[in-house]
Amino acid sequence: MNVTAIDQLPVVVVGAGPAGLAAAAHLVDRGLDPLVLEAGTQAGAAVREWSHVRLFSAWGEVVDPVAEKLLAPTGWVKPDADTYPTGGDWAAAYLQPLADALGDRIRLDARVTGISRTGRDRVVDADREQQPFTVHIRYGDGREERVLARAVIDASGTWSTPSPAGGDGLPALGERAAADRISYRVPDLKDPAVRARYAGRCTAVIGSGASAFTALASLAALAKSQGGADTRATWILRRAISGNTFGGGSADQLPARGALGLAAKAAVDEGHADAVTGFRTDAIERVGERLVLVAEDGRRLDPVDEVIVLTGFRPDLSFLDELRLGLDDRLQAPVELAPLIDPNQHSCGTVYPHGAKELAHPEAGVYLVGMKSYGRAPSFLALTGYEQVRSVVAAIAGDRESAERVELVLPETGVCGGAGLFDQPDDTPTDGGGCCATPTALQIGVGAPAASGGC
Ligand SMILES: Cc1cc2nc3c(=O)[nH]c(=O)nc-3n(C[C@H](O)[C@H](O)[C@H](O)COP(=O)(O)OP(=O)(O)OC[C@H]3O[C@@H](n4cnc5c(N)ncnc54)[C@H](O)[C@@H]3O)c2cc1C
Repeated sequence: MNVTAIDQLPVVVVGAGPAGLAAAAHLVDRGLDPLVLEAGTQAGAAVREWSHVRLFSAWGEVVDPVAEKLLAPTGWVKPDADTYPTGGDWAAAYLQPLADALGDRIRLDARVTGISRTGRDRVVDADREQQPFTVHIRYGDGREERVLARAVIDASGTWSTPSPAGGDGLPALGERAAADRISYRVPDLKDPAVRARYAGRCTAVIGSGASAFTALASLAALAKSQGGADTRATWILRRAISGNTFGGGSADQLPARGALGLAAKAAVDEGHADAVTGFRTDAIERVGERLVLVAEDGRRLDPVDEVIVLTGFRPDLSFLDELRLGLDDRLQAPVELAPLIDPNQHSCGTVYPHGAKELAHPEAGVYLVGMKSYGRAPSFLALTGYEQVRSVVAAIAGDRESAERVELVLPETGVCGGAGLFDQPDDTPTDGGGCCATPTALQIGVGAPAASGGC
């Protein structure tokens, strides 16, 4: 196919989440033709699954400026920039109106199952760059379709591939068999059915990021609402508790993010949760009606009723197998981006400005953006995704000057020299490459590891 014909093809955007919809708005703004393919039956399908969680970013930080421009003629009114939406608010008051404004440029119930160069598997060099992309789609009703694309922006997030409980990154022995008692999501305790699952029970919460903090704080609130009685949590961390375990607190430049850590700290201090440190989950054994967590060092915890695993997410790369991607070995993020977001080095939540250049792959014309671009790295912010898509779309449009001019200052977590604050495996070094002062304010009453994680 000649270059002119390829240029007339749409740019396929995978996923109608915050990053994908923003990418589509930027494409429209530049006179390019986006085709957004969304696996869910509604735009923002992933965000809607955590509707009950309140963002730590205010409205002013989660609306893309070019999307706002597209929305303006529709009469859309921007929510108060200083208030904090829930995931449900974000979807209803921004993502859905934006999807409506994009109209039939979005196809719902359309899962991307593969992307390749037309007629070329990943091995073939001949005329590779002269071929458009072929995107394989499977619709909810089972129909299949192929569409051609001039470029592909993969904004499919990581929500559908949460990390398992196993300390080695694989499911712990017995984890799959205990699936009926394990959740990988922050529970919505306002939902009566979910509330009944955890009320008066003992729950193990595994993980050390914002979602684990939210879960611990929610379980503590549930315990208090019942007079503190039997609702208890065992909080399981791979690393030791240190001054930055609970995030940056008041030093966090996003106050609501800092407050999440403080709420988790209160849950521990007030005795609603016992912290068990240095625990790398090896097995989950069913003992009668309860579950026993076993560590790699042989430690066995007291039985619990439920387990909530919040150890972060990982990208689904399966449908990109026929493309030549350049991904970092550890983080599974684009190779040039990885050193800029590596939690071993950048624990403050600092992210150096990056755009199309750092997001490029050996396969020209393919970009991973949004949450997926971070691979397994923590602390992704919507703001980062909006700047990424601005730069990537400029590159696709041939505006190199704009693509290279990346300006983004992100709020720091106020935590340095340890892992970031997002959901993650929590054993990155505690003394690696600090870039701001380590907070000392957050000393808690659980300095020594709990012996058995009693419930
Ligand atoms: C609980 C939680 C709280 C967060 N709070 C904040 C916050 O306060 N501030 C902040 O800045 N960030 C926050 N984040 C991080 C981040 O900004 C959000 O996760 C954001 O939703 C990421 O947007 P995204 O578009 O990259 O991915 P997603 O929102 O995950 O969207 C990806 C979309 O792609 C679709 N999809 C997946 N696979 C396919 C496929 N194969 N084919 C087609 N479609 C597919 C999904 O259905 C989904 O709709 C939070 C994240 C979580 C999980």
